[in-house]
Amino acid sequence: MQGSLIDTLARQGVTRRAFLKYCATLASMMALPPAAGRAMAEAMAAAKRPSVIWLPFQECTGCTESITRSHSPTLEGMIFDMISLDYQETLMAAAGHQAEEALRHAMKENAGKYLLIVDGSIPLGQDGAYSCIGGRSNVDLLKEAAQGAAAVIAVGTCASFGGIPKANPNPTGAVSVSDLVQDKPVVNIPGCPPIPVVMTGVLAHYLTFGSLPELDDKKRPKSFFGETIHDRCYRRPFYDQGKFARTFDDEGARQGWCLFELGCKGPVTHNACATVKWNGGTSWPVESGHGCLGCSEPDFWDGGGFYKALSVPADPLKFVAASSVVGAGVGAAVGFANRASKNAARSAHETTTLADLEK
Ligand code: SF4
Ligand code: SF4
Repeated sequence: MQGSLIDTLARQGVTRRAFLKYCATLASMMALPPAAGRAMAEAMAAAKRPSVIWLPFQECTGCTESITRSHSPTLEGMIFDMISLDYQETLMAAAGHQAEEALRHAMKENAGKYLLIVDGSIPLGQDGAYSCIGGRSNVDLLKEAAQGAAAVIAVGTCASFGGIPKANPNPTGAVSVSDLVQDKPVVNIPGCPPIPVVMTGVLAHYLTFGSLPELDDKKRPKSFFGETIHDRCYRRPFYDQGKFARTFDDEGARQGWCLFELGCKGPVTHNACATVKWNGGTSWPVESGHGCLGCSEPDFWDGGGFYKALSVPADPLKFVAASSVVGAGVGAAVGFANRASKNAARSAHETTTLADLEK
């Protein structure tokens, strides 16, 4: 039996009020005006379920795990009741010829209208032979499915930028979805794995407004990737004061100081982990004591070492020493140097990319 989304949610114990609250939160996360929350709820509740075809290519299934196992039961999980997930090898019951038939049928019935989700990179080496499904290469499958799609959503860093399969020396000749699909709108939702609510947000935006959200220059939704991890990190005050943990078990680490010197890539990584967090908002890597690896940026695996600090040390005290400002004026100088160093370090770090680290 298929009713409205509200009916489905009610059967799963979710009240209308909770759903409205969820939509309002989602709208606010996406930097939409306050009225958009209600519009989103109404549109999602009434929307005709669009056909979604999900193709997994050269990947580890971590993206699917992230989205389906976030925390259960979830609105993010239930939101899939809004779409008709017509093909997803990991989740569907069908296999073999039945599965291939389901894919063909979904593409034919919904030509020009379905959303195509892809996780994993696409290997081009050996004519695509490194990754085949039902005897067909990933590149063939992608080109065919993209042709009839209204839009393509690349989920995870592998689909968005090539990810780990593309890391040096890229033995399979892996490329991203955008490298191959240039005549359709493509949204990248990078992350290794990606944050589930970003995926839900993109789908909700499409259902509500019939369009994709605003994207940045790397085709990522600006509302989730518009700021760096560093911009919103709760350890940022320590960075600004020049208080850095030097090892994972020193006093600085125990005091929760900034992990910059332990290799944190937060200053050059655009993602929403610091605000949305993981595991139902329980925590996130920096809160658990480990620096950000930069997993939502291109080439993060080749970025020069997870435990190597970014190029310019952000230590205001070194700045003071170098300026020979000591004695009575040191308090004011530290304050000044903190600000000067903060600005210099900030501009240096925030214009440093992971690619720069390779140089
Ligand atoms: S460098 Fe890392 S730990 Fe330090 S404030 Fe920035 S994001 Fe947080
Ligand atoms: S904190 Fe950094 S490495 Fe960890 S999931 Fe977020 S973007 Fe990826």
